[in-house]
Amino acid sequence: MIIAIDGPSGAGKSTVAKAVAKKLGFSCLDTGAMYRAVAWRAQADGVALDDDAALGRLARTYDIAFGHEPGNPAPKQVFIGGVDVTDAIRTAAIDRAVSPVSAAPSVREALVEQQRRIGHAGNYVVEGRDIGTVVFPEAAVKVFLTASDEERAHRRVRQNVDRSIGSIDFDEVLADLRRRDEIDSSRATSPLRAADDAIHLDSTGRYIEDVIDEICTLARE
Ligand code: C5P
Repeated sequence: MIIAIDGPSGAGKSTVAKAVAKKLGFSCLDTGAMYRAVAWRAQADGVALDDDAALGRLARTYDIAFGHEPGNPAPKQVFIGGVDVTDAIRTAAIDRAVSPVSAAPSVREALVEQQRRIGHAGNYVVEGRDIGTVVFPEAAVKVFLTASDEERAHRRVRQNVDRSIGSIDFDEVLADLRRRDEIDSSRATSPLRAADDAIHLDSTGRYIEDVIDEICTLARE
């Protein structure tokens, strides 16, 4: 069974996906981390962010893997080609590089194939931008999770502090979120949009536990 959670950056997808997975005994797949890992590899190798063929080769060549702690459905680590990039993929530089990388059709083709292979192996909560529309259009539950721009930027700033990655500027984060939403929504391949049969949830000003419970109820129906 697949539960698809799509939506813009910072809407609370990761928090919600992890908690729903834990409550239902599912595994969790963060597809954004996969695009970030390819963006990290592209930067490390000096690959131009508009070179579709070269980016596609990277996505097909380097294996992306997740490290788990026993009993925890959410992966603790992300690896690409055996390198631990868990923290390295959360920097402002990767925030900027990931949108052009994820707009490359050959990258999407390679990663969607991997995502389907992972998801079909068990019960998964999968979070991303195109999960309900492209990757798993047959998902049992599809949620499109949103929040106001300001709330999303606040959460992003807090998340980096919690992860001890260092402080980032609120206005910069807000501008980056808006810029990424614009690119993600307007790209030709798999733009960010809600599936026709998705349930729209706005987490602005809501207790996140309420949102989590609502999704669990939908999954149990
Ligand atoms: O979810 P997160 O903010 O980590 O995703 C990083 C970027 O990866 C997004 O801005 C988007 O460009 C891309 N992405 C995507 N499709 C997905 C997941 C993420 O294009 N399914």
